[in-house]
Amino acid sequence: MFADQLGPHFLDDRKQPVLLIESKAVFRRRAYHRQKAHLILSALRHRAAELGEQAIFLRAETYGQALQKVREPLEVCHPTSRRALKFVRNRDGVTLLPARGYATSLADFADWADDRRGALRMEAFYRFARQHHGVLVEGDEPVGGRWSLDVENREPPPKNGKVDVPAPPMPKEDDIDAEVRADLDRWEREGIRFVGRDGPRRFPATIEEANARLRHFLRHRLAAFGPYGDAMLSTDPWLAHSMLSSSFNLGLLDPLEAVRGAEQAYRTEGAPLASVEGFVRQILGWRDYIWHTYWYFEPTWRNSNELGARRSLPAWWNDLDADAVDAHCLSDVLAGVRDRAWVHHIPRLMVLGNYALQRGFRPSELVEWFHTRFVDGYEWVMTANVVGMSQYADLGRITTKPYVSGGAYINRMSDYCGGCRYDPKKRLGEDACPFTAGYWAFLAGNRDRIPGNARMARTMKQMERLPDLDAVVDQEKRRGSDPP
Ligand code: SF4
Repeated sequence: MFADQLGPHFLDDRKQPVLLIESKAVFRRRAYHRQKAHLILSALRHRAAELGEQAIFLRAETYGQALQKVREPLEVCHPTSRRALKFVRNRDGVTLLPARGYATSLADFADWADDRRGALRMEAFYRFARQHHGVLVEGDEPVGGRWSLDVENREPPPKNGKVDVPAPPMPKEDDIDAEVRADLDRWEREGIRFVGRDGPRRFPATIEEANARLRHFLRHRLAAFGPYGDAMLSTDPWLAHSMLSSSFNLGLLDPLEAVRGAEQAYRTEGAPLASVEGFVRQILGWRDYIWHTYWYFEPTWRNSNELGARRSLPAWWNDLDADAVDAHCLSDVLAGVRDRAWVHHIPRLMVLGNYALQRGFRPSELVEWFHTRFVDGYEWVMTANVVGMSQYADLGRITTKPYVSGGAYINRMSDYCGGCRYDPKKRLGEDACPFTAGYWAFLAGNRDRIPGNARMARTMKQMERLPDLDAVVDQEKRRGSDPP
């Protein structure tokens, strides 16, 4: 089992012998967030301890070196990166099994996608997956009459600065965590570079911890997840999110079981349909969809850069230097990444991704940045999310328009703007909001690249009519990629 295949659903038989490998070279190749490195090592070592004599646990510089010590033939589930897949395919004595840890199989997705021959939209795949797995359907129709209840799930944050739900159970660190922390300290002294701050482990490292958080979420937090799923609060980073993405991506939780649990909460415990459907769409729809597009599209998709974004990530961004940033929203979100290696999907998309798109950061560098800085980041996760969705670098293979917005969106969906030195309504001048000004400058700079479509046409016309557009574009050129 690779370190992201840790759950029992990756085994055919709960008692079969297991090989686990910890490779130090992984951490030399890229600068990972310290808390992400901690979580991966902690999860792997906890699983090895749990399996006891059933597991051979090898620690080595590289996977190749570890495998030199193994004589038995091996079986492994389809790995989660092209690099790992190549590695497995090139080894004698290793049998590759179909992928696990996703609701829909690669073969079923390919059949579905081949049949469509047109745009592969998530909404269409999600509908297929609901019917295929019989989730929240009656016959062939969606429970409640609509496939997506997303429009009901866009409440701004509560005025009192807190979503009224009990906090999720936090893991209790143990001796394994202490050993991981000591090893990471030593590796840092040896010259391996990590980014972000160390902190208590906040994400599950064991199957038991992950299941406890899932049960708690379904019972106590799911109802509020839907309405506040898109809201942002400076006072509460977690809101009612499940905080389970890293658990799914480490393979600790089986996604289909979680989806069935959410459906049961609706059917037997009265959980609101809009929240349940929103959670199901995230797991059965979006998560599976981005996994499948990573494999279905050609490998060069990752390097798409159709908007010609050529700016390297600035040092303050790379180093998560939130203190260098005045813009309240960006500073707070960057601090969240620095301190927790996690912020929820809207700060990622509408603050970080939005800013990067407006400033023309290179999409391939951003894929790496999101991969290494977030507890749940992997290449398969970030290719579709960053290249396809957030940066529009493929001109819309999976989305219908760029996810770019001005300060008005952030102002509506958060409490950030009240405490900011910028004004979300202003696009010109000292206090011009960098998101609002950046929005218009981005549209002006890409007017020939963004293909005309109904969803953008009105906005593009509005941009052409702005009396001060040239001045805004000049101002944003001068601002460049200095911290805003
Ligand atoms: Fe962010 Fe602009 Fe609002 Fe400041 S005014 S918090 S920069 S959106």
